[in-house]
Amino acid sequence: MVHKGWLAVLAAIAIAAAGGCTGEQPAESGGPSVRLYVFDCGTLHYDNADAYQLKKEEVARTDMSMACFLVKHSKGTLMWDVGAVADGGWTPTGSPVRMKIVLPDKGERDVTMRKLLKSQLAEAGYSLADITYLALSHYHWDHTANANDFAGSTWLTRKPERDVMFSTPPPDRTIPANYSALANSKTVIIDQDTYDVFGDDTVVLKSAPGHTPGHQVLFLNLPKTGPVVLSGDLYHYPEERRLSRLPVRDFNREQTAASRAALEIFLKEKGAQLWIQHDIGADEKLRKSPEYYD
Ligand SMILES: [Zn+2]
Repeated sequence: MVHKGWLAVLAAIAIAAAGGCTGEQPAESGGPSVRLYVFDCGTLHYDNADAYQLKKEEVARTDMSMACFLVKHSKGTLMWDVGAVADGGWTPTGSPVRMKIVLPDKGERDVTMRKLLKSQLAEAGYSLADITYLALSHYHWDHTANANDFAGSTWLTRKPERDVMFSTPPPDRTIPANYSALANSKTVIIDQDTYDVFGDDTVVLKSAPGHTPGHQVLFLNLPKTGPVVLSGDLYHYPEERRLSRLPVRDFNREQTAASRAALEIFLKEKGAQLWIQHDIGADEKLRKSPEYYD
């Protein structure tokens, strides 16, 4: 016969071993399990930074990274920004593919693509059907290219952004056909400054209008990495933040300035790092999926 006290000790050892083996925190230890995967959604080529009131010599590099992100939480998954070129619009070759994107207003953009978004998701172990939520920082072409693929997820958006996305005439700086299927998605219209996606303050959408009417940023509290904010396009270049320069063509530049001021206070309060999604130098240093940040 085994003594009752020994059973309790054995149970405690079993729980500790389970936690130690998987590397995941069991729910009973109190810490939620959150992971962030960073995907390579291409490079955007610019030979100047005029659109951000920055002289070429003030900017370390004028090219921009384009990243997509997947957040895995114990209660579900969230895709954040879904790329510049739809997977159906190009074919990977194993080498970087340089191509031109023509926007509806005939504006052309030079990009380099390396990997399909869906193959990167698959490498990380996820299919489209595994994605609970979709959130976009904003509707511009370089953040929405694969949005139709996520129409079966629940879309977390803000009314002014959704309204402009489906307005007539359609908005500029985007390809509305790439996100048209979201019109029929299950949708949560967020009407407060912050929206706590999984209810435990680890994954929070925060309003940051100005670049577009309903632009937002994403706050993550990662167990080991710590608090991080994904910028959307509140900033593009680190120099834009350091030198306090505003983009020339934002929807509302006063709003952008106010959103930036509010975010700086938020970052201090949370002790959070800011990851500027288009900052190519910073992006190159990030671990890419299937590795992840936890
Ligand atoms: Zn952008």
